[in-house]
Amino acid sequence: MEDWHTHSSLCHHAEGSLEDYVKKAIDYNLKSIGFSDHFPYEFLKDIDNIPFLEYSMTLEEIEEYISLAEYLREKYELQIEIKIGFELDYLIGQEKALNAHLDKYMPRLDYLLGSLHIQEGQKGTWCLDDERFLENYKAFGVDFVYLEYYQKMQRMLTSNEFDHDIVSHFDLPKKFNKLPNDEELIENEVNKTLELVKKGNYIVEINTGGIRKEINEQYPSDKIINKMYELDIPILLGSDAHNPNEVGYEFKNMIKKLKEIGYTQLVCFDKRVKSFKDI
Ligand SMILES: [Zn+2]
Ligand SMILES: [Zn+2]
Repeated sequence: MEDWHTHSSLCHHAEGSLEDYVKKAIDYNLKSIGFSDHFPYEFLKDIDNIPFLEYSMTLEEIEEYISLAEYLREKYELQIEIKIGFELDYLIGQEKALNAHLDKYMPRLDYLLGSLHIQEGQKGTWCLDDERFLENYKAFGVDFVYLEYYQKMQRMLTSNEFDHDIVSHFDLPKKFNKLPNDEELIENEVNKTLELVKKGNYIVEINTGGIRKEINEQYPSDKIINKMYELDIPILLGSDAHNPNEVGYEFKNMIKKLKEIGYTQLVCFDKRVKSFKDI
């Protein structure tokens, strides 16, 4: 098994060093562990009300992150494969600013997660998985939040400049157990979004982190995974671990579920090139 979504203490809101994660992953018998700490936010515009310094490393810390991961990759090469990535937050129209910082590291990266944590729309800018903004679900209406979220995801998937391989935690707005009222309306938007995932040859992450949250289920839901299977959208697993003890969280049960749905393969990445592995 491989875990493609982990966060270390470098991102200022998780516990454990990269090496702690590697040791846990070896204990857990993982074949690979992917580091996907958040890429910095400090150069982005119009996010002054977002406490982004608590979300990621700084630009200055990137070199330390990658160098340490490379060092660990050699140190543990006989025991486990180490993959180096970032979790990128998509902000509308700010791809150039992101790429100006990201491009120089690209040759050293194995994969990129594309995520939407920040809502940008009619009601301003806020972070939809930060409980400090929780009241917005009520103030704006849950369906409105979902609609803006998926419409933004559609822009992420069709941006020529936002370079990423994987869509993370696909139905994140459900984190605090806020579910759509008009199910059909949101399902239509989900299906439109999945068509673009398919068209863009993206991978969708099955993120077990949701099981640890109020919603108590993986991202995305069983219903969405079934739809993805129908569309032949490839997948991989991520624990979204914020503590080394969460590496490979609930993976055995999740693989069982995925097999029941029909999936027989998971995707692996090496230097941005994907391959398939039987499960
Ligand atoms: Zn995330
Ligand atoms: Zn994450």
